[in-house]
Amino acid sequence: MIDYHVHTCFSGDSMALPSEMLDSAARLGIDEICFTDHVDFDNPGNNFEPADLAARHECLKAFGGCYRSVRIREGVEISMAPSDACFEKTKAYLAAFQPDFIIGSQHVVNGVDVYYPEYHQGKTKEDAYLAYLETIAASLEKFDFFSVLGHYDFVAKFAPYPDRSMKSDLSPLIRSAFERIFKSVISMGKGIEINTAAWRDDPRWGLDVLKLYRELGGEFVTFGSDAHRSVSLGNRLSEAYELARDAGIPYYAVFEKMKPSFIAID
Ligand SMILES: [Zn+2]
Ligand SMILES: [Zn+2]
Repeated sequence: MIDYHVHTCFSGDSMALPSEMLDSAARLGIDEICFTDHVDFDNPGNNFEPADLAARHECLKAFGGCYRSVRIREGVEISMAPSDACFEKTKAYLAAFQPDFIIGSQHVVNGVDVYYPEYHQGKTKEDAYLAYLETIAASLEKFDFFSVLGHYDFVAKFAPYPDRSMKSDLSPLIRSAFERIFKSVISMGKGIEINTAAWRDDPRWGLDVLKLYRELGGEFVTFGSDAHRSVSLGNRLSEAYELARDAGIPYYAVFEKMKPSFIAID
């Protein structure tokens, strides 16, 4: 079991100590954990301080061999935006740090974080989700220095609709936005993550989306709980694994210094 999307107090929106996350990982039998703290330059004037990656490295190093059963990887979650400023600032910030793994995520559409209810006000579910997906597609025309596309369904996480689930066939435009996104991810040799956080207490979703990714040539995924607290670590990752298998995805990947290793899903 791996968890490749984990936040700590080095992220502006988490209070979790790395040691708490590692205690949980050891207790849950997670073999490998990748810390992916936020580096956001997507929303000028409204960003968390980017994670101090050098300080986090020192902190993790200080644990030495305390957590021998858990391999530790040092990653980041970057916020993408279809703008040169965001691209340049993010790239410059990461230049001094050699991450093992980078999640490229979309959080903001036209200056509004889709986490907040105001994003959805006055929009149908289809319109809200389509605008989100189209913004991902536009960001992918610039961003090329990530390992996997993060949570394609982040827009659903706090959406107010009775059925929040993200599906590829919500409308023909949504399907074609997914196709555009996956074609560009695949042509860059990148993957996507299965992020379990948006499901919250709902039945898992995403089988149709993953099948589309596979149909277009997608070969690997990563698995992430997006935990910001230690109680969420590893949440529903066995369901994510089954979902990938049911969609016919052949591999999941782990990363070291941005180099993937592929492990068969069976
Ligand atoms: Zn995110
Ligand atoms: Zn995250």
